[in-house]
Amino acid sequence: MVIKMQCPKCAGFMMYEKFMDMGESSHFYFYGWRCISCGTIVDSTILINKMYKNRQKENKHRRLKKAC
Ligand SMILES: [Zn+2]
Repeated sequence: MVIKMQCPKCAGFMMYEKFMDMGESSHFYFYGWRCISCGTIVDSTILINKMYKNRQKENKHRRLKKAC
């Protein structure tokens, strides 16, 4: 099944990719969508983070890297 996503910022095409979450305390892989135009990343982890505001501190230092 192919999931088509449109970028919430620029309405560009989004690629479904595997990412590595470089958190300060934990590293883990997740799948999400990355906009090929502006680089916006949408994934379930981000949606969960929006629900838990106490993770905002951690997100400041969070780096997303495309997994090979
Ligand atoms: Zn975009």
